[in-house]
Order: sequence, then structure tokens, then C-alpha cells
Amino acid sequence: MADIALAALTKVYPGGVRALDAIDLTIADGEFFALLGPSGCGKTTLLRTLAGLETATSGSVVLGGTDVTALAPGRRDVAMVFQDYALFPHMTVTDNIAYPLRIRKVPGGERRERAAETAAELGLTDYLARRPDQLSGGQQQRVALARAMACRPRAFLFDEPLSNLDARLRLEARTFLKRLQRELGVTTVFVTHDQAEALALADRIAVMEHGRIRQLGTPAEVFRRPANTFVASFIGSTPMNLLPGTAARGAVRVADLALPTPDGLDLADGEELTYGIRPEYLTYHEAPTPGALGGEVRVVENLGSAQLVTLEGPAGPVQVVVDEDTEVTPGREGHALPRADRALVYRDGELLTPT
Ligand code: ATP
Repeated sequence: MADIALAALTKVYPGGVRALDAIDLTIADGEFFALLGPSGCGKTTLLRTLAGLETATSGSVVLGGTDVTALAPGRRDVAMVFQDYALFPHMTVTDNIAYPLRIRKVPGGERRERAAETAAELGLTDYLARRPDQLSGGQQQRVALARAMACRPRAFLFDEPLSNLDARLRLEARTFLKRLQRELGVTTVFVTHDQAEALALADRIAVMEHGRIRQLGTPAEVFRRPANTFVASFIGSTPMNLLPGTAARGAVRVADLALPTPDGLDLADGEELTYGIRPEYLTYHEAPTPGALGGEVRVVENLGSAQLVTLEGPAGPVQVVVDEDTEVTPGREGHALPRADRALVYRDGELLTPT
């Protein structure tokens, strides 16, 4: 078993930055877990504290039932893959992969055999004699993965391992990483600031802000029901529309329009709320439509198979995804009708759940 349990894990750097603020989190054995959040939210600190590269100020890290909080990195049985791969430039691929085995005093013959085996699993057999500068970015990334795998760790810790790859290689490497993790079944913690990557790869995601976890859930949960307006504005390739309004007879009134809400919300007339609706869940109409948010078409962005239209009206800017065949002309009036079943309502920034 190599589940990871963090209890009240806190890291305060010299100078007073509270990078981790009493984090409680359990990651299951074999889980692919992503840490997601804006720059400076504490993702890397959390990963480095798991690896033992940072000392926790307080709280504990338990790995597979063993408290490793005070253990040195080399004794934790975890392998970290860094953003820049940190390969040894003067060593061959074989020697790079075998390096952690050498540190563990595995005899030479067995070392080379295990390095060759791991290299074969990652499709690196043809490159064993090369040095890192004779490899592509994607191949270097695989060598870093092979080096992490060679000593059969109980957990992989990845710090943005795909961010140095170009867009196409990145997609390929993403699929490869997911397949590999499934096959090996090794508990994996993955840091990224790329939400599409986290949604695509992870079994569960923790969205962090200021050293705290703001939401913990599956990609579908985090995408469909962001627990607060911070997560709502962070997740999604086009950000969610978050419109300030007030409750009025079971609806949310935004700029003189009663917007439909999901059934079962307990709203007190007059209270201030935020109405959340993703651009994908509004339908676009050229003609005025009852219940639709109207405005002037300000921007039309081409998304490939669709277009993202920004309307500017009494409710402020509203974005709506429109199919590629609809002609939308900047400067004209447009109308966007929300789907009640996809609308989310936030009170003091927290999601209201239907009763
Ligand atoms: P990024 O996505 O930019 O890498 P992150 O979410 O990984 O950000 P961390 O690197 O964990 O964030 O940093 C969390 C906070 O701790 C930031 O405010 C950062 O400035 C601070 N911090 C990180 N390392 C140190 C350090 N060695 N000394 C002091 N403060 C630090």
C-alpha cells in the first residue's frame, strides 16, 4: 500500500510566507492525483514537502502507513520528476536511468539490466548510448520518467513534467503518461497550472489557493459544480460567466432580467447572489428572446469548430459559445439564453446546493 495521508500540513517559509496552511488530504493507493492552482498557491511546496525536499513547519506526511515527515528524501521511496528533467548532461541514457540504482548500491550487472528493461518499456532502447543533448525534448522527458521508474518507487511526484514540450508533443506525452500510470498502478501526484491537463489526466484534482485546498473532487465534479467562485473562474477553457444579481421569487435577477435557476434552491428575496453559467450553456439568438441576456456583440473569437462571442449589455460582459455556422456580426445586438439546469448560484462566493 502506498496511500499518502497529509494531516494539518503547514509550511511557513523564512520571512513568513504561509505556503501550506494546514492541509488535510488523503490520496489513495494507485491514484493519479493533480494539484492545480495559480502561480504561488503552494503546489510545488506541497510536492517538495512530500518528497522531503522541504521540511514541514508542522503537521505530518504518512506514506503507506509510515510517518515519513522526518525522513530524508532518499529514504522515502518516492521518485520526483522535475519540469527541467534534471538529467545528467555528461552521462548516457543508460547511466542516467541507472543512477538511482547506483546510489542504492545495486550491483553493476543488475543495474544495467534494470535500466535496459525500463528503457524498453518507455521505447528508449535505441537511445541507450546517447547523451541528453542528443535527444529531443520528448525523449529527454521519457529518460527522466525511466529514471524515476527504475527504482520502483511507491509514489511518483511530477512537477509540471510536460511544460517544456511543444503543444503537439505535450498531448502525445499526456496520453503516454496516463497509459503508463494505469499500467504501473503507482500512486502519482502531479503538479500543473494547466487545468486542461489536470482534467484530462487526473482521477481527482485539488484546486489550491493561498496554501489551501479550495475544492477536492473528480475532474467532472470540479468542472460541472465548482464549489466556489474562485474555482469557477479558474476551471474551464473559457471562464464561467459570473454575474452579480439578487434573489427574486425563486429566480436570480440580473440587470432587470429574472434568470432561471435550478430547482430546489432556497433563496431569500433580496439577498445578493452570483449567477454562474458557462459560455457553452447559453444559446445564442439574434432576435430578442424572453429570458435572454441582451447586448452588443463586442468580440467574436474563432475557437475552430465554434466561436466565442462577447456581448456587452446591462449585465456587463457575457460570453457565449456559438456554433461555427451562425453568422455573428460585431456591433449588432445579440441575445444569450441560459440553460436553467446548468446554472449555478453562489452565495458569498460559495455554491448553493439544491435541497
Ligand atoms: P508556481 O506555479 O509559480 O510554481 P506554486 O503554486 O508552485 O507556484 P510555490 O512555489 O509552492 O507555488 O510557492 C508558494 C508560496 O511560497 C509563494 O508565495 C512563493 O513565493 C513562496 N515561496 C516558495 N519558495 C520559497 C522560499 N524558498 N522562500 C520563501 N518563500 C518561498
